[in-house]
Amino acid sequence: MLDSFTARRRALVDKVLSQRGIDDPRVLSAMRTVPREAFVDDQLHDVIYRDCAQPIGYGQTISQPFTVAFMVQAARLRPSDRILEVGTGSGYGAAVLAELGEIVHTLERLPELAASAARTLAALGYGNVHVHTGDGTLGFPDAAPYDAIVVTAGAAELPACYREQLCDGGRIVIPLGETQRRQKLFRFELRGQELSVEDLGDFAFVPLIGEHGWRAE
Ligand code: SAH
Repeated sequence: MLDSFTARRRALVDKVLSQRGIDDPRVLSAMRTVPREAFVDDQLHDVIYRDCAQPIGYGQTISQPFTVAFMVQAARLRPSDRILEVGTGSGYGAAVLAELGEIVHTLERLPELAASAARTLAALGYGNVHVHTGDGTLGFPDAAPYDAIVVTAGAAELPACYREQLCDGGRIVIPLGETQRRQKLFRFELRGQELSVEDLGDFAFVPLIGEHGWRAE
């Protein structure tokens, strides 16, 4: 017998994500594997497998499942990839990335969220995820270069240091917009000296706050 979370997770993947254009089998499998309920308070358990963002405290959210799946699919991850995530939040997205790449460094500016995410990820056995507290608009040079940089909060423009911390062939997936609450998601790809960019459509993320992002209010 499947427990009810596993059954609801499978239904979300098979009935929602697959219907909305998520077709990479590795991404679908990661979304079927990571227990989203472990990253939120018990009182959200009834709604955690709806395809919606949910509050995680401190004015932040755990991203909508579709958004997580869309971003990781856009990052075209391979099992050997070294990944930087900016915006750990609950840690859920980091766990999905950890299913798809070799190692994940994830940065969160709010120490309380970083600590709680690190505890959850350790309890679930994600030894390949390293949670750091800090300003992710500076990237994380200590573990660079990365094959992929995935940013889960919206900036006005691409922080220049991300390109410097990317491998040749590396991808950056980041929401960019002129206001703090509405963005377009972009994929940048580095080939030699050339950084190409593609617009992947409209999304709404919380703001990326830091030296090369928005100012804290
Ligand atoms: N991937 C997360 C979603 C997090 S929402 C999840 O699955 O739960 C975005 C997060 O980015 C928030 O927790 C916010 O505090 C964080 N954030 C905003 N600006 C940041 C910055 N400059 N560096 C690191 N984290 C930042």
